[in-house]
Amino acid sequence: MKLLKPRDTPVELRFLRMLRARMTLPDDQHYMNLEQGYAGERIMDAWLENLSSDCLVINDLLLEQNRRIFQIDSLLVFQEKIYMLDAKHSAGDFYIDGDKWKTISGVEIQDPLLQMRRSTTLLRKLLQQLRINIPIEYFLVFTHPEFYLYSAPPDLPAVFTPQVPRFLKQLNRMNAKINRKHEQLAKQLLALHSTDNPHMRLPEYDFDGLEKGVVCAGCRSFMQHRRKKFFCSRCGMVEDTETAVMRSVAEYRFLFPDRKVTTKGLYEWGGMQGSSQKVRQILLNHFKRVGDGRSSYYVD
Ligand SMILES: [Zn+2]
Repeated sequence: MKLLKPRDTPVELRFLRMLRARMTLPDDQHYMNLEQGYAGERIMDAWLENLSSDCLVINDLLLEQNRRIFQIDSLLVFQEKIYMLDAKHSAGDFYIDGDKWKTISGVEIQDPLLQMRRSTTLLRKLLQQLRINIPIEYFLVFTHPEFYLYSAPPDLPAVFTPQVPRFLKQLNRMNAKINRKHEQLAKQLLALHSTDNPHMRLPEYDFDGLEKGVVCAGCRSFMQHRRKKFFCSRCGMVEDTETAVMRSVAEYRFLFPDRKVTTKGLYEWGGMQGSSQKVRQILLNHFKRVGDGRSSYYVD
């Protein structure tokens, strides 16, 4: 298999991870859902690494068809078929009651097939517009080891964890020969990929309202500075000052793209104590300084 688009950490999740360390999120459940979804997608990615047949893999595609946005976790282009895979990382016992999905205690949940069917229809229309005629098949891929679905009909387009090895074997046995036409199709879809997710839900935040300090890369709690190093008392991570400050700079620039990178700003952002000379030196090591004195700032 050829991986044409690897999966990045979703932008919304990157924002929320950074913000959550420094403020109380108004909707923590939304953040947890994103983490859970991403965890499932990465498990599916690891499984798909075992694909040995000649096929193309595109992850995390955000497409638009007639002003309707749809997202595909993984799209596999085979010689005669496209597979759309949607990772589901829920844990617990569920059952299907008629056409409704419910938790074992009877609470109805969103039918994951509805969303999948909608995406399939939209992709089909999009391909028609591109004058590409290739069948599409879709599967829900259940990635959580503690997920169980009672009374699942055998024709449900789903792959459950114990079925994954056979599912992959089946794909690996398929007639597969990718040619320029397939590459072209993949290229067209990639060109249509949108990086701008309109469904992104970020809380309001500003510099003054966020807690300051250097956040641990491992567990995202605040680190302490001692003897030229940063320490995390929660997970034991140790980091030299330069690495920790540069991580903080990256965070600062990500959260505040309109703010200038200044010694004062970064000193404050990192919750530093003592002289700001060290921060200035690190910024000088990595950036170009513009201007002099108090109004100076740093650029790439
Ligand atoms: Zn830590």
